[in-house]
Order: sequence, then structure tokens, then C-alpha cells
Amino acid sequence: MTSAATAPSTGGAPRIAVAGLMFEANTFAPGLTGLAAFESSTFVEGAAVLTIGDGLDSVAGAVAVAREAGAVVIPTTLAGAMSGPTVAAGVYPALRERLLAGLAPLRGQVDGVYLQLHGAMVTEDDPDAEGDLLEAVAELMGVPVAASFDLHCHFTARMGSATPLIAGYHTLPHVDMVSTGARAMTLLLAQLRGAAPVLAWRKIPMITSSEGQDTNHPPISEVMARIREIIAEPDVLDASLFMTQPWLDVPELAWAALVITDGRKELAQARADELAQMAWDRREQVLAPKVPIDSALRTAAQAERDAGLGPFVLGDGADSVSAGATGDGVEVLAGFLRNELTGRAQVIVADADAARRCAEAGLGAEVTVRVGGSLAAAFHSPAEITGTVVTLTDGRFQSLYPPAPVDVGTTAVVRVGEHLHVVITERPSSQLDYQLYLRVGLDPREAHVVVTKSAGGYRAFFEPIARECLDVDTRGPSDSRIERLPFTKVDRPLYPLDPDLSWSARA
Ligand SMILES: [Zn+2]
Repeated sequence: MTSAATAPSTGGAPRIAVAGLMFEANTFAPGLTGLAAFESSTFVEGAAVLTIGDGLDSVAGAVAVAREAGAVVIPTTLAGAMSGPTVAAGVYPALRERLLAGLAPLRGQVDGVYLQLHGAMVTEDDPDAEGDLLEAVAELMGVPVAASFDLHCHFTARMGSATPLIAGYHTLPHVDMVSTGARAMTLLLAQLRGAAPVLAWRKIPMITSSEGQDTNHPPISEVMARIREIIAEPDVLDASLFMTQPWLDVPELAWAALVITDGRKELAQARADELAQMAWDRREQVLAPKVPIDSALRTAAQAERDAGLGPFVLGDGADSVSAGATGDGVEVLAGFLRNELTGRAQVIVADADAARRCAEAGLGAEVTVRVGGSLAAAFHSPAEITGTVVTLTDGRFQSLYPPAPVDVGTTAVVRVGEHLHVVITERPSSQLDYQLYLRVGLDPREAHVVVTKSAGGYRAFFEPIARECLDVDTRGPSDSRIERLPFTKVDRPLYPLDPDLSWSARA
């Protein structure tokens, strides 16, 4: 409600500027992310910064806590884009300039800054954009800067040196965006009230795919339980475990445990080391168990057909669009084509040319098209399908996770044989929920086998309706078998690239 220019004097109430920049890169995905990806996604200023997330983002939690404390919140700018390849040269400098220009008029007029960040924004200009941004904001404003991050933040020493006020999501699937923003703002308010936050961290030399990082299940639920105990200790202000976006070929890539205390550096370091050791000791359990496609399909084929039990949900994690992959992998589709199907099977593939050809052929037309492998050709080869175009749509729908309107362009459903339904979209679609399937009339609850291109994050929506979730062994830019990817720039040794690595947090 308060704008920078007209803010009334608040008689000592703290004034806090709010800004944000959200992007998760995947450096194995082909191509580059341009400015248009941000401009066509989240790109707002002023009051819209507070409303664009519909009350479900970290900004909402931060603002609620600030206002409860009687602080005045001054929204400036927010930008974000869907996960994708490395950000092209020149784009981050432009985004940085925009964010700093939004804050600059508030120099000397605010007591603190809150930033909503993701933490895995690798750019051609700087592999650690958030580290650079935190430094720049702190230097420009000369006041405490707090930041909330995704659990997959690629945490760097530069971030930790720029500010001790760092809070990361505690959940995967991510359902605590709001409370994470609240925690970051609570840190900021504590410092403004006289606390002396000190941050200690311990990097953990491991990277893993997200299927095994589920915070609702062991082994990670055990580490998260310990985090909650630590946060409840006297003098501890907050703690986070950053399990890092693993599909980044950049220096410093590793998990990190962070603990923030009120003035007690040794306590913070001891607890960070303890969390790091706990995570390290569970490294083998965190590696995602993968099921070969044919054996997953055999399991489904041998199961009794009973709609009441829900579908078998196959997670194609190596082609996870929400992790920056391209959504054009067809390994599971090829599995459908070579196996007998006993009930409705459905899969989504991004292929602009095939979608256009289906639209041109028209509803009810018989088509033979090659689908897939058009975006990440280094990982995927096309598959040929012959079937009937049974649905055509404009590809617009409301995603629930993240909550946002989505437009994947021309979308066709081709039915192959009796059971197989192939959803072909012009652009890749994030598949953490099943809104796209609903949009094209393929309710997954009525299917026998459903594919979702997601590495574990899909379980928040799919697990409640699934008979069984099976993470299948596929290849792609977000391959869960990390060691199969061509890493060259990460710091070594690093588990599981160096599987026999011995390490101790206390050494
Ligand atoms: Zn994440």
C-alpha cells in the first residue's frame, strides 16, 4: 500500500525494501536463456511485487512478518523465469541494473532489504549471479540484506560473506515458500532490533538428483528433524540445508549446511558441521533408485486393471522441465511403443514441429510424425508415431505448482492404438502437477500409466492419486545418475563423481 515516493513518516518503524530475482539454470540444457524468458514470465515493479505470487511465494511470508512487526514494506522490482539453460551474456547485467535502479532511490531511507532469490542462477557473465547480487545490494544500500532461497540453492562463499541473513526452503517437494520468506524477514528484524547474527556454513562435497531428497522420507527427513531441533536451541536464529541444483557445471558446486546464531560463531560452526556430517553419512541413501523402463511397464502390465487404485506414475527425472531440461525426451514413449499396454497410457513431449503438423492435419486426422529429440539432440533421439489427432488446444492453462498461468503453445493429443495418448506441446511444459493433462481431457486418475517429466518434485501432486510412483531410468540434461553427465568445471573430488571419496565435516 505504501509507495517509495509517498511513504509517510513512520516515527521509527523500520522501513524495508523488497526485491527479487528467481531463476534456476541447468548448464547441461542446450542453448541459452534470454531476457525475453523473464519479460514474458515474472517482470513486475511496485505494488505488483507483493501480489504476483498470489500470496504463495516467499515475498508473501516476508511481508506478513514485517507488517506484523509494524514495519513499512516498500516493494521495488521482481523478475523470474522458468528453469532453463545458462543465462545469456548481457541478460544478468540488465536484470541486476534494473533491480539496483529500483533500490537506489531508497538509499538512506530504508533500514533493511529483503530479496527473494532462487540461488542457482548461472549466467555467462557470472556463474554465481546471486553472490554478485547480494554483494552489490549490500554495498549500494549500506543496510542489512536478508534473502530467502530455494532448497536447491547453489550456495557459495560469496553469498555467505555478503550477508548472514539467509534462509532456505526446508521442504521437497517445496511447500514452505511462504514460511521461508517469513524466516528471512525474522532474521532481518532480529538484526534491526539489536541481535548480532553470525552465519557459519560447511560445504558438503556431494551432489545428487532430487528424487532421493524428499524431506518427508528418510534419509533427509532425519536431517530436517535435526534442523528443527537446532533452530529451537537458545541463541540459534535459523538453519538451512542447501541440497543444490546438481545440473550445474560450475566451481564450488556442493551441498551446504548453514546455521545462524546470535553472536555465537563457534556454536553456529559446530551445528553446521554436525548437519553436514549427517548429510554426508547418508550420501548413498540419497542416490535415487531408478527402475528400468521395461520393468516399470511390466509391473504396470501385470497389475490388475482397477481404476479405483489410481495410475502407475512414472517419473522421467532426466527430462525434468522444472529442473531446466527440455521435455523432448521420448525414452518412455519408445517403451510404450515396444511393450503391450493393458490400459490408458499418457505422456507429454515438447516438439514444436510435430505439434504444428498435427494442428495442420486437423482433428480426427490420421498422422505419422516424428516426435522428440528436437531440443536436446545430444541426449534424445526422435520416435515415430502413427495415430489419430484426438484433441487440439491452445496450450493455455493454470498451473498449480508453481501457481501461475502457463502457455505451452499449440498442443495436440495423438492416440496411438487403443491405449496410448501422446500429448505434443509446442514448448516444454513443467509437469510438477497434472494440470496440462486435465486441460487436454486426460485425467490421470482415470489412466493406467502416466508419465511426468519431473525429478521427484511431482510427488506433492501425483503421489496422492497414484497406485505407485516409479522413477524410471532415462537420460537427459537432468540425469539423476550424475556421473553420466560431462562435468568439467566442478571442484573435485565430489561424490558421486568420485565414489570412493572419504571426507569428514570435522577434519
Ligand atoms: Zn528446488
